Amino acid sequence: MEQIYFDHSATTPLDPRVVEAMLPFYSVNFGNPSSLHWAGQQAKQAIVEGRRQVADLFHAGADEIVFTASGTEADNMVLVGVAMRYPPKDCHIITSAFEHPAILETCKYLDKLGYSISYLPVTPEGIVEPQALRQALHPNTRLVSVMTANNVVGTLQPIGELARITKEHGALFHTDAVQAVGKIPLHVDALPVDFISMSAHKLHGPKGIGALYIRRGTVIEPLVHGGGQERNLRSATENVAGIVGFGKAASIAGAEMSAEASRLVSLRDRIIAGIQSQITNAYLIGHPYKRLPGHICLGFAGQEGEAMHLMLALNDEGIAVSTGSACSAQHGGQPSYILMAMGMDPVRSRGSLRITLGRFNTDLEADTLLQVLPRLTESLRHITSRSFAAVA
Ligand code: PLP
Repeated sequence: MEQIYFDHSATTPLDPRVVEAMLPFYSVNFGNPSSLHWAGQQAKQAIVEGRRQVADLFHAGADEIVFTASGTEADNMVLVGVAMRYPPKDCHIITSAFEHPAILETCKYLDKLGYSISYLPVTPEGIVEPQALRQALHPNTRLVSVMTANNVVGTLQPIGELARITKEHGALFHTDAVQAVGKIPLHVDALPVDFISMSAHKLHGPKGIGALYIRRGTVIEPLVHGGGQERNLRSATENVAGIVGFGKAASIAGAEMSAEASRLVSLRDRIIAGIQSQITNAYLIGHPYKRLPGHICLGFAGQEGEAMHLMLALNDEGIAVSTGSACSAQHGGQPSYILMAMGMDPVRSRGSLRITLGRFNTDLEADTLLQVLPRLTESLRHITSRSFAAVA
């Protein structure tokens, strides 16, 4: 059976060019970058190059990139790293109600320690409005953290505007850009952000490597203490192969971004139009165009409870999609806090189908989806109406 992968927001397949760049660092180039001999210096040079490549994607300085093990770690690093600089009673943090758990759970932890946290509301189209931020700012607001693109609905946030308001207030601005990096331009010479979280496995790079952009001159407390690597902000022997892979993935994404974004937007919009013309109860969740190029999030009116069945039926046909985010797949059946934050009722909030496209998806694969999905929703409709009839 043909296998089609439409779950790029969960993770992406490695680009073969990335694999090729990484392979020597699993064999001949094995040195510890802290060693002064030739083996160490080869590894050190590779890290310098990888850091430069990641920085270039943001028009940042190489000294502004700190490597971590994941996007989650980068999020923890900035929230806890800023909070630890203040006594809890003197530190207010603002975030949004529909952030990834890497932010929300860290905020819960800080809340337990006595920090005060505010959660900005989200519009029904999945956007955090600048006016809401203006109203939430306090004299002791130290940090505002709003994601660049939501992982479930794919909506893009007005990061530039939110960052400007935050900076005028004198606080720091962080954006979790894990879903957006490599897909849309994020240039720190134009965006007044202080921190950006990212993760290589979302842009056809390897898993287990992320980074935090930290604007030059901005100080945070380190979470991991030890040998002083990563400018003392993240001690541990570096993941050299991961950094090389991240660097390569970043440079490919930067070089191909504008052509790839237009290709994905037209593929995405063709799929949305095709689904809506064939499946009458299908509705798009989130803003119609302020969304990531390859991101589709759908609901099926009256069939919301069937999203998991639909996902599994597609899987039986070899097509991988998800119901909401990979991180919450184990909580199947629960209303999504992200859709609830957007004001959807608990019934509608249970049932979204996320179809996310990537570099290797083809027109032919989109055609297959457009043939298979209407047939599956139709047969599920029969099952749903039969079971309702049996109950009545
Ligand atoms: N933030 C967002 C918005 C995400 O979508 C994800 C992963 O899906 C993360 C953070 C966590 O990234 P990682 O898997 O690298 O820990």
